[in-house]
Amino acid sequence: MLDTSTALEKIASIVGNRGVVQGADTEPFLRDERGLYYGEAASVVRPASTEECARIIKTCQEAGIGVVPQGGNTGYCGGATPFDANKQIVLNISRMNRIREVDPVNFSMTVEAGLVLSEAHSVAEEHDLMFPLSMGSQGSCQIGGVLSTNAGGVSVLRYGNARDLVLGLEVVLPNGEILSELKGLRKDNTGYHLEGLFLGAEGTLGVITAAVLKLFPIPHSRQTVLLGVATLQAACDLLQSARCRSVERVVSAEYLSRASLDLVMMHIEGVHDPFDEPLEHYLLLELAGAETEIELRGVLEQIFKAGSEAGEIVDGVSAESGAQRSAFWTLRESIPEAERRDGGSVKHDISVRVSRIPKFLKEAERILGAIAPHRLSVFGHVGDGNLHCNLLPPIGSTLESFKEGPAGRLSDAIHELAVSLGGSFSAEHGIGVLKRDDLKKYQSPVSVGLMQTLKHALDPQGIMNPGKVV
Ligand SMILES: Cc1cc2nc3c(=O)[nH]c(=O)nc-3n(C[C@H](O)[C@H](O)[C@H](O)COP(=O)(O)OP(=O)(O)OC[C@H]3O[C@@H](n4cnc5c(N)ncnc54)[C@H](O)[C@@H]3O)c2cc1C
Repeated sequence: MLDTSTALEKIASIVGNRGVVQGADTEPFLRDERGLYYGEAASVVRPASTEECARIIKTCQEAGIGVVPQGGNTGYCGGATPFDANKQIVLNISRMNRIREVDPVNFSMTVEAGLVLSEAHSVAEEHDLMFPLSMGSQGSCQIGGVLSTNAGGVSVLRYGNARDLVLGLEVVLPNGEILSELKGLRKDNTGYHLEGLFLGAEGTLGVITAAVLKLFPIPHSRQTVLLGVATLQAACDLLQSARCRSVERVVSAEYLSRASLDLVMMHIEGVHDPFDEPLEHYLLLELAGAETEIELRGVLEQIFKAGSEAGEIVDGVSAESGAQRSAFWTLRESIPEAERRDGGSVKHDISVRVSRIPKFLKEAERILGAIAPHRLSVFGHVGDGNLHCNLLPPIGSTLESFKEGPAGRLSDAIHELAVSLGGSFSAEHGIGVLKRDDLKKYQSPVSVGLMQTLKHALDPQGIMNPGKVV
């Protein structure tokens, strides 16, 4: 077996001076986005090509060194943080950000994994097309990270998760071999769907180095409304009717609770509540389609009329300009930052069937209320059945004392409730290191066993992202 220091020297020579991060510059690569984890690594390297990645991983395999793949390092579960100063390296992919090909006729583009998501949007737009995956971290997160976490975001309802937006992958396997499946085909039933293994695997089975992404036509018109709805049940009923009446023009359906909006009003500068009277429940609805703005507005008016007559809609404001549309989205997208400025929250990322969302929240309020005092900030992608049901300490308590006290029991109750309703304890943020124990607790032994079998088959030495997921 290759000894560690010789292996590290070899890795440094593979990437050259530009590819090694040293001293204090390594700090941002060693901690996670949320400040939950401060890790350590024997080295932080930034390869410039798939071939360099493959040589590094082969060297790590020979020396038994763990490889922690990293993209924009915006993940919420500590998946990209290294935890061994002697036997792990960070393999940061951000220098690998080339556009290999755009094929407008095939509605696809082939890009390297280090391309930042918002740059992928710009490249598609240059060809009058669209890459629809969109989320708050898009200015920093990268295609490799997005695919490895199977990220969701605000357009899943219409376009699907990251997994649904891929036509092919290039992956460096734990033995240094390169799996190249970049054909970009929409039909290819030639055995197992190998690429699917790496989507959502959080870097535990290999390093994604490039991907063929699906592109879509840019809608001609877009309408955005912020609605005050009577109840969460009303929000779900309204969404169902909006999807049917508009024949799937709904791109996004985001829920905001009063408590979440209050936090935004309190902590974020330059925002304002568009409603005269405070309401308990809000639904941010965005429609997009091929019709003219006037026609799409007509569809929206029908939805609004039917929703008002059914007593689902209490009040509503429709965006009259791009600036107003972004003001609505700012209210939604700034909730995590508002929670942070309030002193921080214990985050949850559950999903249940959309039809069970009202029951989930009603039961959650009852169960949590009986456990311990807390504040709830509930918001999220209600159209996908995905709610962020975040806990804040009661006024007068700190997050630290809350975490030392009842937060664990409250979190368990939220996860147990979601699972008891046939849902998931981790809808879009993944497992990483944060939810490893939860995976064993809530996922069936059969599925955890199969994950371990796959992990062992592909990575018998366990060098890929050690200690994460399984
Ligand atoms: C403000 C904000 C809003 C967010 N909103 C959403 C949201 O709406 N929906 C959502 O799903 N997530 C959201 N996230 C979480 C996060 O942005 C996503 O999970 C994102 O996909 C992570 O991408 P990244 O490049 O930062 O990956 P990293 O954080 O660098 O890595 C995440 C995981 O993927 C692995 N990985 C990274 N690159 C590769 C690669 N090339 N090959 C193999 N494995 C790799 C890492 O080892 C790690 O396990 C949000 C985060 C923030 C900060």
